[in-house]
Amino acid sequence: MVESIDADLIVLGGGMGGTTAAFAAAKQGKKVILIEKAAASGGSALLSGTHVRTARSLEQLREKAPTGDPELQAAFIEGFPRTQAFIKESGVEVSEDLDVLYGRGNRFDVVTYLHRATAAITGAGGIVALSTEVSCLLTDDSGRVVGVRAHDADGMTDLRASAVILATGGFQGNKHYMTKYMGERAARLLHRSNPDSTGDGLRLAIEAGAVTKGNMATYYGHLIASPLPEFLPGDFVRHAFIFSDRCMLVNIEGVRFAQEWLGDHLNTQRVAEQPQGRAVLVFDQRVRREFSRAPVVKGTEAVDSFDEATDRGCRTASAQTLEELGEAIVAWGITRPDLAVCAEQHEKEASDAGVTEPLTEAPFYAVEVRPGITFTEGGLAIDTHARVLDRSGAPIPGLYAAGADTGGVFDGGYSGGLALAGTFGLIAVADILGT
Ligand SMILES: Cc1cc2nc3c(=O)[nH]c(=O)nc-3n(C[C@H](O)[C@H](O)[C@H](O)COP(=O)(O)OP(=O)(O)OC[C@H]3O[C@@H](n4cnc5c(N)ncnc54)[C@H](O)[C@@H]3O)c2cc1C
Repeated sequence: MVESIDADLIVLGGGMGGTTAAFAAAKQGKKVILIEKAAASGGSALLSGTHVRTARSLEQLREKAPTGDPELQAAFIEGFPRTQAFIKESGVEVSEDLDVLYGRGNRFDVVTYLHRATAAITGAGGIVALSTEVSCLLTDDSGRVVGVRAHDADGMTDLRASAVILATGGFQGNKHYMTKYMGERAARLLHRSNPDSTGDGLRLAIEAGAVTKGNMATYYGHLIASPLPEFLPGDFVRHAFIFSDRCMLVNIEGVRFAQEWLGDHLNTQRVAEQPQGRAVLVFDQRVRREFSRAPVVKGTEAVDSFDEATDRGCRTASAQTLEELGEAIVAWGITRPDLAVCAEQHEKEASDAGVTEPLTEAPFYAVEVRPGITFTEGGLAIDTHARVLDRSGAPIPGLYAAGADTGGVFDGGYSGGLALAGTFGLIAVADILGT
């Protein structure tokens, strides 16, 4: 017979979305079972720059993610101040309010946050179950989700509660789903994420009748210096060219293919569509000084990705003119581009779009880049209460999702993965507890 444990709430995934949801419910005295597949909680949140931030307004978010669902986006923007307040009230160290890229937010101590969440969960009679997996959701005769069947090294247990929140972090670690939804692009992506987000939330919910939302081929990520013999968590920030929106890109045929100024995450998705999934990022001395050698956010350490790439043996080059730079990159198997013409075209297009990004100050730099995926942006259809929806658009009773398991909020755009996860985690708990 399978052992059974009852709780008020079950949460799958001990990263940002799951931890925040479980923490919030435990603070309200609820018995929560937080299930984490890995041997430790944290997920990608623990690897992150810990900037919990998003756009300043719905209008700005619409600009950054124009095809995302406007109602979910409105719920996200409206809920975000509660997420900031919740993190501050947890008593962990939180920075002053910061301008982060175009948005606003804070840096916070995620390690202490995870510890405090665990203490609150266990203090309220709940359990944090590490190294635990879930084979299926349990449903009653009416189709309501009433728990999960979990297993760990000691065996199988049915965990029962009136609601289950899925926050397993997306499907970027699942080869089958990645190929199904992204085709040949999937194999070109470097995995810039925790290793355990393998689409379990998606699978479990689909088995329970859920549908997906948003373009399943979209994702958040960064351009990464190439080639790298291996790509480990310690490389995730130092080898990312987060300022690629200030640069110019050409593919291996020597052709520009992106509106680079629109965003590094969009450049990343575009590079994955190019032949061989690689490209050359070109910038000048001004960009190097102002963006590569400067901190991305006030108070953080500057990492000169160009130096880091060169030291690691990636393909990098510099030259006094764009002509010489074009010559230098031919050795990387690139059809010789006329970089001066490309730069003129880039400047004109950017300026037509209202952006000034001239690449005119010698020396000029080139680095080979490949796309890295941090999390998938297509996922489970939810409503503004974070309830998972079925084919008819109705909520599946008892089933919720948060963070990268959800679909359709960014839909190829981007405005804060931690904020998204924490905010929909809190929205789910508010709906479940009626608070
Ligand atoms: C290097 C790096 C830097 C980043 N910097 C920032 C930043 O500064 N600001 C920002 O907003 N975002 C940042 N992000 C993105 C951010 O970390 C994610 O968007 C966020 O953590 C997503 O939250 P989540 O809860 O959806 O997933 P995660 O935080 O990844 O948590 C998912 C968890 O679910 C667990 N899991 C998977 N399957 C199961 C299962 N079947 N059962 C139980 N548990 C399961 C995983 O092990 C993991 O612990 C960064 C990411 C990386 C990798």
